[in-house]
Amino acid sequence: MTKVLNGIAASDGIAAAKAYMLVQPDLSFEEKTIDNPDAEIERLSAAVETSKQELEVIKQKATENLGAEEAQVFEAHLTILSDPELFGQINDKIKNDKVNAEAALKSVTDMFIQMFEAMEDNAYMQERAGDIRDVTKRVIGHLLGVSIPNPALINEEVVIVAHDLTPSDTAQLDRNFVKGFITDIGGRTSHSAIMSRTLEIPAVVGSGNATSEISEGQMVIIDGLDGQALVEPTDEELEDYKARAKAFADQKAEWKLLKDAKSVTADGKEVKLAANIGTPKDVEGANDNGAEAVGLFRSEFLYMDASELPSEEDQFKAYKAAVEGMNGKQVVVRTMDIGGDKELPYLPLPEEQNPFLGYRAIRISLDRQDIFRTQLRALLRASHYGSLAIMFPMIATVQEFKDAKAIFEEEKAKLVADGVPVSDDIEVGMMMEVPAAAMVADKLAKYVDFFSIGTNDLIGYSMAADRGNEKISYLYQPYNPSILRLIKNTIEASHKEGKWTGMCGEMAGDQVAVPILLGLGLDEFSMSATSILKTRSLLKTLDSKKMEELADKAVNDCETADEVVELVNQYTK
Ligand code: PEP
Ligand code: MG
Repeated sequence: MTKVLNGIAASDGIAAAKAYMLVQPDLSFEEKTIDNPDAEIERLSAAVETSKQELEVIKQKATENLGAEEAQVFEAHLTILSDPELFGQINDKIKNDKVNAEAALKSVTDMFIQMFEAMEDNAYMQERAGDIRDVTKRVIGHLLGVSIPNPALINEEVVIVAHDLTPSDTAQLDRNFVKGFITDIGGRTSHSAIMSRTLEIPAVVGSGNATSEISEGQMVIIDGLDGQALVEPTDEELEDYKARAKAFADQKAEWKLLKDAKSVTADGKEVKLAANIGTPKDVEGANDNGAEAVGLFRSEFLYMDASELPSEEDQFKAYKAAVEGMNGKQVVVRTMDIGGDKELPYLPLPEEQNPFLGYRAIRISLDRQDIFRTQLRALLRASHYGSLAIMFPMIATVQEFKDAKAIFEEEKAKLVADGVPVSDDIEVGMMMEVPAAAMVADKLAKYVDFFSIGTNDLIGYSMAADRGNEKISYLYQPYNPSILRLIKNTIEASHKEGKWTGMCGEMAGDQVAVPILLGLGLDEFSMSATSILKTRSLLKTLDSKKMEELADKAVNDCETADEVVELVNQYTK
């Protein structure tokens, strides 16, 4: 019988393909005494050879899909596998201690890893330690006869099954082969979910048990509209899936007709619909989906895609490409938002009990001004080539905003003094993600040019409910009147000072929330590019005056999120 797994709908669309298990295999082994060292050395050498062949394929794929720079890490792995000194020591250990290849390999590589890791302020050696660890895993896998999955090796249509996908795993997925994915953990606003929407890959996250319920090669239907997966479906279910996939494609084709239309309500009120992007490459998707601006460029992906801090020049090129690609339409770049679930392998952050409440985002930038100033200079230089705005993530206090803005002004003045062309009208704003900041929005509004409400974090912090934890996802309530009040407070405060407010959290593209946000006076809705056209289509059916009435009732009369949903249904039917 078909097995049904329920999770959270993370990315629209329906797909069916064979399961590819992206899970780490069990690499445990026992240390054994052996009597034929030569045979053991031979066995190791065969495993090394197979690993090399595999790495050649991965390297080539990575070069094609991600570029030569990204592929360098695999070159480093290949170099390690050809290191005579390292393998000399391992072979000696097999001969002298008469231990099996797994044990000899692990013991020698552990020694090198510890030695490199001890060089704490040497990022290069730290990275080499990581490389040796990865390579060792691969060779041990081959010695044990188990394969290590790697998305780069996928060469047929699959549905990926994983416990979790990191943003960098997700970035490596090849859309030609990866038709969908399902994970055990994560929520709709975890970063892998956000990226799946950018890549237009149907996805279900937070299913709880996909990795234990699905096996390699089983047929799986991923229903990213309803948040379900069907394992080993019947023929009828497959037929049904095809019909629904077609209906979804037809719907999308209809929305496409609105690509160049204005974002306007039934009674003629205009708003701006913008796209969230992670890299300059996403600009194409933003334009294809009729984005009127980029409301959020998550600049940290530039840092996450690199093996060291990106230089001013590399960042300048990326920001310039984005503003030029948008052809005069505004691009709001958020300064580096690292921490929480976004890590940089080359910038180790302290172990923290609550990373989401810890050293992250603007807190790092104000502390590591070397990194911050480099980014600001790159942004300032790029501002000359189009319409660029800057915003700071996770601002909690007026002082933080003032400090960040002051550093921006200093860098701007230096560039101007050096004769570097810099735009005169760069808007500088902030993300509204911390409830404390939303409570003093009236004070902040005096200093900012705009607010951009980051509901993904704002909801999490307001409800004290981790955005990626599916166990408490019931508390993740965008429509709760408490959240609506924080949003209202923010929008009103900005308008009183003649400033504007956008929203770049996922709520901005939520079809139940849009009518309320319109009624609250939100100026810009920034979302995954793939949600723009359906939102434009929805706006055409709404009357702005009626939505003001709806918003007023939702904020003042409703007690629960459910009551708000009920109200939206009444007002939009
Ligand atoms: C948010 O918090 O709503 C937001 C847009 O930022 P991120 O999802 O990158 O944390
Ligand atoms: Mg955020």
